[in-house]
Amino acid sequence: CGIVGYTGFQDAYDIVINGLRRLEYRGYDSAGIVLEDTTNNNFNFKKTKGKVSDLVQISEDLKGKFHVGMGHTRWATHGVPSDRNSHPHISNDGKIAIVHNGIIENYDTIKTMLLSKGFTFSSETDTEVLVNLIQYVADTQNLDFTSAVRVALNEVYGAYAITVMHKDYPGVLVVGRLGSPLAIGLGNNEYFIASDASPFVEFTKEAVYLEDGHMATLSLENGVDIRSIKENEKIVPAIQELKL
Ligand code: GLU
Repeated sequence: CGIVGYTGFQDAYDIVINGLRRLEYRGYDSAGIVLEDTTNNNFNFKKTKGKVSDLVQISEDLKGKFHVGMGHTRWATHGVPSDRNSHPHISNDGKIAIVHNGIIENYDTIKTMLLSKGFTFSSETDTEVLVNLIQYVADTQNLDFTSAVRVALNEVYGAYAITVMHKDYPGVLVVGRLGSPLAIGLGNNEYFIASDASPFVEFTKEAVYLEDGHMATLSLENGVDIRSIKENEKIVPAIQELKL
């Protein structure tokens, strides 16, 4: 299972797909991608059971068009491997997209609560519960994107590495981790996300390995803002020089 994300000026499709290929060694049963059209704030999704090569077959029309996106290879834990259960998942209002590695242990309780509030689900995954919880706390507590992710993460337990995109925040990626690895690549006017540094080492030698219990907001305008998920304390990034 693996995660790749990109915001910058290069072709996000190429970077995400090539990155997912580099992470194939981690093992997976499904693959998916979402790319953001920042001219009209539209998300373009493709996902499928199978290999990254199967994803490429159904998604090549997205090549060369977009500069923001993320992709996922899934190792199913909740819900069988299927197109429907593949990531990315999207919130009921269609605004928030997520990719997730790991397990949300208390997804069942949260799902029951969300169902009682009128939310619907199109997959059996724990991940779709988390993305709708983010929407729910954003709506009910009137929170901005980063705060909504942080508040939602404080409601869940388990293990996760996530990357989240929001239609109202074009070009912004919000990431978080607890138990599953996530690395941030710092380029010039571009940022990379990946489960390990191999997808972006050819583009930048500067990386931050996100620590457990930390989240980050990556924005070309405002840079990288790292916080502790619990206390919302600002963290000074420990930038590492990648060898090779
Ligand atoms: N628990 C999630 C699912 O089953 C993510 C699995 C993964 O790590 O790929 O969809």
